[in-house]
Amino acid sequence: MVTETGKPKVLMIGFDALDYELFGKLSTSDLKLLPLFAPIPVTGPSWTSMYTGDSATVHGVWNVFGLEYRKRYASNDTVQLLLWRLHNLWRVITRHQPQERYATYATTKSTYVWDTMGDEGISFKIVNMPITGPVRQINGTHVGGFPLITRKPWYYPQSVGSQIPDDYKQMIEMIQWIAEPEYHSDKVWKNSLGDIGFEMVMERTEADAHRLIDLFLALPGANVEMLQFSFVDRIAHVFDMSGEVAVRCYKLVDELIAKISDAVQAGSVMIVSDHGAQGKGHTDRGCLALKGELADAIRIPQGYTPSVLDIAPTLAGFMGSSHPCQGNDLTVEGNYEAASLNAEQQEEKEQLMQHLKDIGYL
Ligand SMILES: [Zn+2]
Repeated sequence: MVTETGKPKVLMIGFDALDYELFGKLSTSDLKLLPLFAPIPVTGPSWTSMYTGDSATVHGVWNVFGLEYRKRYASNDTVQLLLWRLHNLWRVITRHQPQERYATYATTKSTYVWDTMGDEGISFKIVNMPITGPVRQINGTHVGGFPLITRKPWYYPQSVGSQIPDDYKQMIEMIQWIAEPEYHSDKVWKNSLGDIGFEMVMERTEADAHRLIDLFLALPGANVEMLQFSFVDRIAHVFDMSGEVAVRCYKLVDELIAKISDAVQAGSVMIVSDHGAQGKGHTDRGCLALKGELADAIRIPQGYTPSVLDIAPTLAGFMGSSHPCQGNDLTVEGNYEAASLNAEQQEEKEQLMQHLKDIGYL
């Protein structure tokens, strides 16, 4: 299907932590399913790799929620700030980029696929994609995703503000039923959701997901339309992604995909996730599930596993554009280099994973 601008229309639906194995087992959809390798299976770095096509070392977003390491050194704010400044001073001395206090967008020369493609006249509708705040001007409409910090710009253009429900940040994200992301503690939201119980959480999640779809469909259309849901990840962390919990979650995933696809009628549908989740832990196998023209256009060499770095260049390639980055354009037949980590990245990954284990996130 071609839009008024003569460009194909792509619908991308993201699910945080949609797991390759579980989706393959539990989904009844007719999508072409591939594993999507996440070199760093953590929300902040992985979604940002998907949008930029670059590794975390290049784009600079390491935190789970895309925030700075706010309490990395001390629980006392003043001590933390002082040590944070020393940390950055050390980075400058050792010829690294200093890290921003708010790293919810790439802190380096990495560019977002909607910026490179937008410059070529391809329009975007981006709703609730994680780690995209503060929201900036794009060619199209952008309503931010988790962690939604409403005192920063979080939607563009101004004119869409009147369409967004007052409880948008709770509607998109169950953590924000309970806590502000800036002051959140893993224990607080996990315990609170546990107390609410799976049935009630699922009931509200379903209602919120359908309201989010209504908002998404009401906003102006674009060449590339993106929408994300975070419940699979959050439910995994609290209730364990296995057995009946997994069956219920993946059934909802199927229903949402069908509902949005039917309404948007895009020529291509692309389901993506930043990593997988089984039990209470993350896996490095997310999903790339495709339907339509894009499914036919991709050429993956034998033995190659697509990675989150390949999404931005593939989207650009498919739309007749290009996005310079580390990832591979999977619409071009080639001998792709597998996404692997260099020594510095490996070290940063190990530190990050250890930190997440220490705070009880993984
Ligand atoms: Zn995630």
